[in-house]
Amino acid sequence: MTFKDLGLSAKVLSAVETAGYETPTPIQEQAIPVALEGRDVLGIAQTGTGKTASFTLPMLTQLETGRARARMPRSLILEPTRELAAQVEQSFLTYGANHKLTIALLIGGVSFAEQNRKLDRGADVLIATPGRLLDHVERGKLMLNGVEILVIDEADRMLDMGFIPDIERICKLIPFTRQTLFFSATMPPEIQRLTDTFLQNPKRIEVARPSSTVENVTQKLVFSSSDSFEKRETLRKLLREPEVKNAIVFCNRKRDVATLYASLQKHGFNAAALHGDMDQYARMATLTSFRDGTVAFLIASDVAARGLDIPDVSHVLNFDVPIHAEDYVHRIGRTGRAGREGHALTIITPADTKAIGAIEKLIALKLEWQGDAPTQEQLEAGARGRRRSSNKRTAPSTVRKAVSAEKQENDTTSPSRPKRRKTEPQPADSPLEQSSVSEVAVQTKPEASPEAAPAADRPEKSPKGAAPSNKQKKKETETSAFGAGGHVPAFLQRPVRISQ
Ligand code: AMP
Repeated sequence: MTFKDLGLSAKVLSAVETAGYETPTPIQEQAIPVALEGRDVLGIAQTGTGKTASFTLPMLTQLETGRARARMPRSLILEPTRELAAQVEQSFLTYGANHKLTIALLIGGVSFAEQNRKLDRGADVLIATPGRLLDHVERGKLMLNGVEILVIDEADRMLDMGFIPDIERICKLIPFTRQTLFFSATMPPEIQRLTDTFLQNPKRIEVARPSSTVENVTQKLVFSSSDSFEKRETLRKLLREPEVKNAIVFCNRKRDVATLYASLQKHGFNAAALHGDMDQYARMATLTSFRDGTVAFLIASDVAARGLDIPDVSHVLNFDVPIHAEDYVHRIGRTGRAGREGHALTIITPADTKAIGAIEKLIALKLEWQGDAPTQEQLEAGARGRRRSSNKRTAPSTVRKAVSAEKQENDTTSPSRPKRRKTEPQPADSPLEQSSVSEVAVQTKPEASPEAAPAADRPEKSPKGAAPSNKQKKKETETSAFGAGGHVPAFLQRPVRISQ
């Protein structure tokens, strides 16, 4: 089958040819004709399958007729993260090169002013993260009753990040007569319920994960003792290997991203940090530098790097073994893309043997050691050291909470957006931002306290992920006295009113 057989317009076919695509991928082959008929689609597929083009190409064809009106977009694409939204915008620009469609990107962390201007002009295609989209709606700057095509992408990640109530709200604001194209890598019950409610007689299309992800990627384990200095030294040795052209280095926590970034900088590596607390401009600038090769090593947390399509990454290095086994699969999927060869190296300390067992079970593959396997003695020596220092280590459950807290923080308009509030978050450039943020912090802290990340995992204010200064550490200690000992007296849990 060729793209010509799918019913796409001449303009779209010409752009596809320019992009160099010869044959449609399975999701494109199945979803495009159905989408062009105006039918709902339920696509069970993940990144790397070509799913972005499977909704972008038919949308461009459908949007060729008709015009956008001010503040009333004709189509809407919801993405869980700012980076994915920006990536989809890029796809529209590539595949829509022969069209004169207006595209607006509404993501958090950037000024409202430019977004308002685009909305005022009228958008044929609106690409948004749910939080920022609802902020525009609540400010009266955007009406969704002109949306003819709705795309909900990466729905299971939306679920992970707590966006489902927002998605439900948005679906209810869009006319029932719309066409919905819905994509999710997995179908947990919450997602099934969502599709049962909001899709009408969808065509269900399921494609296997791209086998090339694993086939093209060599995966090896590298032993290190639990000592953090030695672990960093192990990483530096790996990064100095001549075959490592560039790499994404994954850490489990934002704090470790910052520490590792500072350490690599000190040792003269051309590195940059990427995590959920950086403002959007810094995140995009970092990604661009990595994409164009200005930066060779990207030190990242999962939340910032999942789903990214950077075509030429020679190595993925897991500085920390991921807490959830499925994150391993997402991480190594950043290398070996588009049929290229990729390499994934995971540093294993004695503390990680159980976690790596879970990963091997998930991928149904026994991972080999790079070089010599550690001896039983090395493993036990490390384990003894670990027991001695275990009181100082963060408990695994705390780490899990920190990870989930980090997911909550990503891609919202304000850094603290655990729940939608009556007082709407202000744009990053607004003078009201400070008061709005502090109000949320005061109102939600008692409630959020038992689940909150440890003080060290809260947003680092240091520029470009540098390690916190002593002054900052002191400030963190002072502010964290609030939950000292983990017990929060009842009187502190009552909401506090601040007089303005
Ligand atoms: P996606 O799953 O949408 O993130 O796409 C993954 C990668 O596949 C992107 O880099 C696309 O440019 C590329 N791609 C999408 N469709 C095709 C195709 N039909 N042929 C070759 N590459 C494609």
